[in-house]
Amino acid sequence: MNNNLQNKNITCSIVVSVYNEAENIVDVYQQLTEILQTQNITYEIIFVNDGSSDKSLQILKKIVDGNDRVKIISFSRNFGHEAAMLAGIDYSEGDSIVCMDADLQHPPTMLPLMLQKRAEGFEIINMVRTQRQDAGRIQNFNSRLFYRFLNKISKVELAENASDFFLISSRVGEILKNNFRERTRFLRGIIQMLGFQRTTLEYIAIPRQSGKSKYSTRKLVSLSLTAMATLSKIPLEIGIYLGFISALLSIALVIFSLIMKIIEQPIPGYTTLVVFMGFMFSIQFFMLGIMGKYIGFLFDETKQRPIYIIDKTINC
Ligand code: UDP
Ligand code: MG
Repeated sequence: MNNNLQNKNITCSIVVSVYNEAENIVDVYQQLTEILQTQNITYEIIFVNDGSSDKSLQILKKIVDGNDRVKIISFSRNFGHEAAMLAGIDYSEGDSIVCMDADLQHPPTMLPLMLQKRAEGFEIINMVRTQRQDAGRIQNFNSRLFYRFLNKISKVELAENASDFFLISSRVGEILKNNFRERTRFLRGIIQMLGFQRTTLEYIAIPRQSGKSKYSTRKLVSLSLTAMATLSKIPLEIGIYLGFISALLSIALVIFSLIMKIIEQPIPGYTTLVVFMGFMFSIQFFMLGIMGKYIGFLFDETKQRPIYIIDKTINC
């Protein structure tokens, strides 16, 4: 890793995470260079190959051949999008760092505007998608709901529909390199809790150019849980509230049963018992599940395993 920022004087590092994007890489590269060349700046493009099993790496190698503006970081296996972005940030040398997807859903045409905002002094520029053309209405609604919910349960003010398309200054990059090395991360959330001058720009997420979304429903659910658990401790406290409510409920039930007994109309116990026990048990298991999730994150943290493992780098 070359940290010789002054000598190279790179204005902008573009970090592109790549997982099986063979059909898209060349287009991404061409569109990026086309736009960046009009900007009269020095730039570098860092492709992070997140353990692709298709021809992505071969194609990247062709692009990088004799081209010192392109760097490649190739992981030993798939570590996930978040790890890929972080690796790119780790290796970036620019005064600004932009993270974006390799499927052209994050339009390179937005770069000039982003750099302009950066020149105005903003250190964090969140790109907010106005709509996802490829997503159904339900999905758009879900993602809005999700951000509202996150805002409610955490102290972070998350921009609604924030994406993995953002620009940060090298100063913010340094903070991510040094201080946010937790194993379970939600980068979008972390970036928004750092403070600094920040702003948002809107963009329209066009349908992915080619291939399918690499986020399966399972990965999305897991990302949502991660977001909640890393940004908020409130789920851990649900038990206290539920305990309180169920205590009130049982007091009411006791009083009711006593009264019925006194006026000699004892209620048949079976149904009451089954319903009550079922209710109580489900609350308990629900809370156990939440605790388990948090303990899991703690467990991952204590192992101190690397966030990613690099197989090889080119031009870094
Ligand atoms: N990606 C990655 N590792 C993964 C999954 C995805 O590096 O395990 C990359 C992928 O190549 C793409 C970006 O992350 O550049 C976003 O993924 P995708 O487009 O599948 O997500 P969506 O846009 O559907 O949310
Ligand atoms: Mg995409």
